[in-house]
Amino acid sequence: MVQQVPQVRTQELDLGSDARCDLAVVGAGIVGIACAWAASKRGLNVVLIDRHARQIGASIRNFGMVWPIGQPSGELLRRAMRTRELWLEAAAHAGVWHEACGSLCVARHTDELAVLEEFVSRGNDAGYRVRMLTPDQAIERSPWLVRDGLRGAMLSETEVCVDPRQAIERMTVFLREKCGVRVLLGAPVAAVEPPVVRFSTGQCLRADRICVCTGEDLRQLYPEIYAQSGLAVCKLQMMRTSPQPSGRRLGPMLSAGATMRHYRAFEMCPSLQSVRERFSAERPEFDRWGIHVMASQTPAGEVTIGDSHEYGEPVLPFIRDDIDRLILDYLGTFLSLPEQRIAERWYGNYLKLMTGGTEFVASPHPAVKVVNGVGGAGMTLSFGLGESVMASWLG
Ligand SMILES: Cc1cc2nc3c(=O)[nH]c(=O)nc-3n(C[C@H](O)[C@H](O)[C@H](O)COP(=O)(O)OP(=O)(O)OC[C@H]3O[C@@H](n4cnc5c(N)ncnc54)[C@H](O)[C@@H]3O)c2cc1C
Repeated sequence: MVQQVPQVRTQELDLGSDARCDLAVVGAGIVGIACAWAASKRGLNVVLIDRHARQIGASIRNFGMVWPIGQPSGELLRRAMRTRELWLEAAAHAGVWHEACGSLCVARHTDELAVLEEFVSRGNDAGYRVRMLTPDQAIERSPWLVRDGLRGAMLSETEVCVDPRQAIERMTVFLREKCGVRVLLGAPVAAVEPPVVRFSTGQCLRADRICVCTGEDLRQLYPEIYAQSGLAVCKLQMMRTSPQPSGRRLGPMLSAGATMRHYRAFEMCPSLQSVRERFSAERPEFDRWGIHVMASQTPAGEVTIGDSHEYGEPVLPFIRDDIDRLILDYLGTFLSLPEQRIAERWYGNYLKLMTGGTEFVASPHPAVKVVNGVGGAGMTLSFGLGESVMASWLG
C-alpha cells in the first residue's frame, strides 16, 4: 500500500553528500534499534530516525527486564535467549550497563508454591534454568524479602537487568559511532512513500527499503493497517523509589504470585488455575486493572516497581493513585525496602496483539516492513525479532 502524498514542499534532507540509503528505520525505540543493528551487521547503509530529540517511548519507560522466564517454551523462549545473548554483546561493545542477576518468583500461599514446584519439575526439560529455594535460601539471595509467610521461591538464572534509559541512549550512540548507522533524532516522519521517507518539514530521504517501528504511533503512518491489525493500546503505570541506602542491591529481580497469572510461561502448569481463582475472589481489582507486581533495580540503586494493564482507547493522561496503592500494598506483602520513598511515577503505552500473536509484521509494499506488537516483551524479544525479520527480508 502506498501512502497518500501530502502537499508539502520537497527538498533533499541534509545527510551530507548522500540523501539515500539501503534501509531507513522509522522509530528508534528498541524495535527500531534492533532492526537497524541487524541490518548494519549485514553491511547495509542504514538511517535510523526518531521524531523526538531523544527517545521517550515505551523503550525507556520499562523495568529493563530481559525476561526469558516469562516466555512460553519453544520458539519464543529461543528468541528470548537469543535476545539475551545480544544484550550481553551490546553490554560488551556498546557499554550498556547490565546485571545478569536472574529472577526470583516468591510463593506466599500453598497454591503458589504448587505452581512453582510444578514449573520446576517441567521447566528444565522445556529449556528454562530454574530451581526451588527454601525461604532461607531465598532470603540469602534477596535480603529484603518479607520472611513472615514466605513458603519458598523459584530461582531462574536467565534474566538480565538493564537500565532502559541508559541502554537506549548507549545503543543509539553505538549504532552511530561503531556501526556506521546515520541517526536522525528530532525528525518526525510525515509519510512513507516508497522509495521515499517524507519528513514533516517536507524534506525527504530515498531508501531502497523502509522499516516502520513506530510503536504505539503505528496509526499515524498506517491507519488502515492499524485498523485491521488486531492491535490494541495498553497503558501501564510505573513507579521508582529513591536510591536504596549504601549502594545495597536487590539481588535477583522479583515477582510473586500475581505474576504467575500474567506470563504465558506459567500456563504449562495446571495448578495455576487455583491461583487465578483465588486472586479473582480475593483481589478482583487486580483483574480489573491488570495488576501484577515486579521489581528491578537501576545501577543508581533505585527500585523500579509496577505495573498495571489498561487496554483500549482513549489513553487517559492521568496516573491513578488507587492503582499505585494496590501495587505498593501488594509489593509490601513480599518485599520490605529500606528506602520506600517514591521518587518518580510515570505511565507507558505499547501495542499488543489481542489475537494472541507475539509480534506484528506486515508488508504494505514490497519495500516496506512494519514491525510492531511486541507488547510487554520488547526488551526480551526485540533483538532476536530484528535479526529474524532482517534475515527473512534481506535473505
Ligand atoms: C511500563 C512498561 C514496562 C515494560 N517493561 C518491560 C520489561 O521490563 N521487559 C520487556 O521485555 N518489555 C517491557 N515492556 C515492553 C517494552 O518496553 C516494549 O515492548 C517496547 O519498548 C516497544 O518498543 P517499540 O520500539 O515498538 O516502541 P517505542 O519504544 O515506543 O518506540 C517507538 C518510537 O517510534 C518513534 N516514532 C513514532 N512515530 C514516529 C514518526 N512518525 N516519525 C519518527 N519517529 C516516530 C517514537 O518517537 C518512538 O521513539 C514494558 C513496557 C512498558 C510500557
